[in-house]
Amino acid sequence: MDTKKSSSDDQEKKPFLQNVIRMSKRKRIVLIAHDNRKSELLAWAKWNKKLLSKHDLFGTGTTGGIISKELGLDVHRFKSGPLGGDQQVGAKISNGEIDMMIFFWDPMSAQPHDVDVKALLRLAVLYNIPVASNRSSADFLISSPLLQEEYDRRIDDYAAVLIEP
Ligand code: PGA
Repeated sequence: MDTKKSSSDDQEKKPFLQNVIRMSKRKRIVLIAHDNRKSELLAWAKWNKKLLSKHDLFGTGTTGGIISKELGLDVHRFKSGPLGGDQQVGAKISNGEIDMMIFFWDPMSAQPHDVDVKALLRLAVLYNIPVASNRSSADFLISSPLLQEEYDRRIDDYAAVLIEP
């Protein structure tokens, strides 16, 4: 086995600076579902209406409209996903204005706005947002004790690294 270190191993690794975003007890939760997954998300949201009503809800156009109508809760609606809604949600995440994402995306059908979906999922990881993509993970997220508490979300400060190579 070659045990020689590569030259990059010898370079001192700079520790990443981290920014912290404090999530308050009242979370800003965005709800999104592709068409084939909307009924599943609605069933989940109905089951968890009491918990959801304690937080600020957001949604892409159609999903947000359905949740708001069926649950009778206020939902801030962005544009429909294929019309730019996913990108609007991504912008909110990058501004630190969304704390959690419940996004039931369709694993069986191609979406016209697939690139937007991919970009949104990437930003959610980058900004360390809790994400649930199916019902059981959404159950785990919503039943976490952290949902009702303040939480310091840590985000690697890539900007500092990019400015100071
Ligand atoms: P919609 O968008 O809620 O407007 O259907 C969801 C999506 O496809 O991202």
